[in-house]
Amino acid sequence: MGSIGTSVKGRVELSFLIDALVIKQERVGPGLYFMELQAPEIARKAVPGQFVHMQVSRELEPLLRRPFSIYNADQDKGRLELLYQVVGKGTEILSKAAPGQNLSVLGPLGRGFVLPEKGQKVMVVGGGIGIAPLVFLLKELAAGGISAEVYLGARTKTCLPSLSQVGSMGFQPKVASDDGTIGYHGQITALLERDMADTAIAFLKPDMAYACGPKPMLKSLARLLLAKHIPFQVSLEEHMGCGVGACLSCACKIKANNQEGYLYRHVCVNGPVFPGEEVVWDEA
Ligand SMILES: Cc1cc2nc3c(=O)[nH]c(=O)nc-3n(C[C@H](O)[C@H](O)[C@H](O)COP(=O)(O)OP(=O)(O)OC[C@H]3O[C@@H](n4cnc5c(N)ncnc54)[C@H](O)[C@@H]3O)c2cc1C
Repeated sequence: MGSIGTSVKGRVELSFLIDALVIKQERVGPGLYFMELQAPEIARKAVPGQFVHMQVSRELEPLLRRPFSIYNADQDKGRLELLYQVVGKGTEILSKAAPGQNLSVLGPLGRGFVLPEKGQKVMVVGGGIGIAPLVFLLKELAAGGISAEVYLGARTKTCLPSLSQVGSMGFQPKVASDDGTIGYHGQITALLERDMADTAIAFLKPDMAYACGPKPMLKSLARLLLAKHIPFQVSLEEHMGCGVGACLSCACKIKANNQEGYLYRHVCVNGPVFPGEEVVWDEA
């Protein structure tokens, strides 16, 4: 095990590079996997919204680590949970890892969500695999006695493996699916827009909204929330190289008071969570 200092906005944060034992690997939906890892150092420090950078293979190819949000951290057991979708070579290799195997894990990395204060009204919106960092967030909200309006969307019913878990935390998620197999037939942002406009539904304007999901979903959500002046935090998922701010591959545009009106920030160290109002959504 080794520890390294990763720089987060001038502060040096401690991250750990460890060999983590795979405790569980389970297929929970089409191309969707749940993984449990023994990683006490990382589990102890992790906060919702942070991520780990995983070496999926000891071979030279694929060389780069792959980033995954922390789906849950159990500090008592020293365990980390991940929920991931197989999309390419790296995640395909990862899905073959068996219990008993060790994987090199670097984390916790990045800046997590800023949690609300007690009594604040909160909304949580997740799309597809974007549910991953939000489950850890909801766990913390539940532990702090904070209730939340939860909106979860996916392509189809089987792509929503976390519903019962979210329910068992005391939340009653509103659900949408693209194919109508569960909940509202359509996109989650369409359901949210309908609820916001429906005078029969007492839509309580939240003090803070939290979101993660595919870019088109986040863009529509940004349009809805900005129009209502609802502050929000988004976890952005950009292609990532080093994970610690040394390469430029995960740059994203953030509004700034300079000539250009924006500057580039690294999703790995300045994010992955950003204030939604500060993201340049036109080009996101
Ligand atoms: C901070 C962060 C947290 C993430 N958390 C999760 C998570 O909890 N669960 C999860 O399933 N995925 C998560 N991702 C995305 C995940 O890292 C990628 O899906 C993975 O790296 C793809 O690796 P691969 O080798 O299988 O695919 P590649 O062969 O590298 O790519 C295959 C396809 O996936 C697309 N892709 C690759 N990386 C990304 C990315 N970062 N975002 C969007 N599309 C991508 C490529 O464009 C390509 O079409 C996260 C990404 C970031 C940056």
